[in-house]
Amino acid sequence: MTEARRIDGKAFAETLRTTIARQTDALKEAHGLVPGLAAVLVGEDPASQVYVRNKEKQCLEVGMNSVGRQLDATTTQTELLSLVAGLNADPAVHGVLVQLPLPDQVDARAIIEAIDPAKDVDGFHPVNVGRLSSGEDCLIPCTPQGCMLLLQDVLGDMSGANAVVVGRSNIVGKPVAQLLLAANCTVTVAHSRTQDLPGVCRGADILIAAVGRPRMIEGDWIKPGATVIDVGINRIELENGKTRLVGDVDYEAAVGVAGAITPVPGGVGPMTIACLLRNTLIACCRQNGVYFPA
Ligand code: NDP
Repeated sequence: MTEARRIDGKAFAETLRTTIARQTDALKEAHGLVPGLAAVLVGEDPASQVYVRNKEKQCLEVGMNSVGRQLDATTTQTELLSLVAGLNADPAVHGVLVQLPLPDQVDARAIIEAIDPAKDVDGFHPVNVGRLSSGEDCLIPCTPQGCMLLLQDVLGDMSGANAVVVGRSNIVGKPVAQLLLAANCTVTVAHSRTQDLPGVCRGADILIAAVGRPRMIEGDWIKPGATVIDVGINRIELENGKTRLVGDVDYEAAVGVAGAITPVPGGVGPMTIACLLRNTLIACCRQNGVYFPA
């Protein structure tokens, strides 16, 4: 039995960050510009705190400015809207992200819509969503972009490939389906109401799993030689009481069938923040009318 190629997202993201650091340096040198990312965190959700800390740390590591805004869990919608308006107006801030989820008293949709689309480095604003679906230039959501960079690296041209995306969320499933379509794949989007999901998956040359159910996709759901991108991040409890992270795909079973597969952790996960930094650099260039540095 030949084992699938293990797609090393950690190494890919590291190389991407090195490139971004060099480009950030070139931008500073040529135009005196330093990209700035503002990360807004409301409340004390431990997972969100870790994400935001990592974003801030990696931002500084590539030479960008990081503007952290930590707000109390009781923050009102009006207060948050006013903070976002201030960041929109700040010329030193080129990217604004509001970490989700938000507390119940805040309407997340209204907050996302309040972010200037030019600074919407998460790519969640309806203007960027619309541009993505019409194939126009936009800020592309980070995790889907990370999936595509890995796929392009493994496969090169994807024209004509059958791609199946399991999951239809606004942050992963739908945008990754749009990007696959733009890459000339024939795209199927599956979800909780899909009939014969194993059969649908077996038709996939490219299989993207973005469900949030540990090891749901079994080895015999995978077409031999397929490229599998596992977006899922699920923490499971082991018999010894410890926990570990697993994806939505049964990796141990899939690795004997697929042609290439991302592990969890170390696959798509590390790509997300690298793509966020890339978006911040792109946003800074566009806002200042300068070319993206080579
Ligand atoms: P959501 O919960 O928003 O969406 C899950 C999707 O999976 C839904 O469309 C749902 O269908 C579908 N689904 C649920 N159960 C089934 C089933 N039994 N069969 C088929 N489809 C099913 O999740 P997200 O898209 O936000 O995240 C998905 C996973 O990716 C999670 O594990 C998350 O942690 C991870 N993730 C990882 C990121 C990273 O690597 N950086 C970033 C973002 C997410 P329906 O619409 O019908 O309910």
